[in-house]
Amino acid sequence: MPERTCIACRRKGPPETLFRMVAGPDGEVYAELDSRLPGRGAYCCFRGECLNSALEPRNLNRALRGKVNPPDSADIAAAVQSLLGRRIEGLLGAAWRKKAVAAGRDAAMRALRSSRAGRIFLAEDLSRGSRAGVMEGLARPPVEMKMEMGRIGDILGGRPVGVFFVSDPLLADSLELRSSQASALALL
Ligand SMILES: [Zn+2]
Repeated sequence: MPERTCIACRRKGPPETLFRMVAGPDGEVYAELDSRLPGRGAYCCFRGECLNSALEPRNLNRALRGKVNPPDSADIAAAVQSLLGRRIEGLLGAAWRKKAVAAGRDAAMRALRSSRAGRIFLAEDLSRGSRAGVMEGLARPPVEMKMEMGRIGDILGGRPVGVFFVSDPLLADSLELRSSQASALALL
């Protein structure tokens, strides 16, 4: 896979570490996670600073080779957040269907102890007390989700879930990447 370059900070990275913006025929700017939309694209890191700088007209017009309607950075950030949210839901659903998820603190800790790979994930609204209890026993920090317990529970087929373990290494890595991107862009 060819590397992409952020038009703001010039950092290069594999396609999944940057999002893409394209201008539609109307000059409106659309964001996407994959390179599906036709036309010339501009890539940007999942960082508020990069997004702000990427959307400066001189940067965006040069990257997209034409005049575009300068979008509001909050609108683009919200669109990317929503795409990331859907992607995270899809990955979590895929892990669930593969029976690669142990939901709930006790099940998650048991699964962690009997597994070589995989990661622990925490809901963003997990209480501080529960969070501290989980952290205690962990050699590797858990992944902070940009998702609430109720939504995670919906995907995992039932009650709210604040702590879960994903044993499939590829799905765990993708979930971690997409969660960290959602958190980084949320700082805007
Ligand atoms: Zn950047």
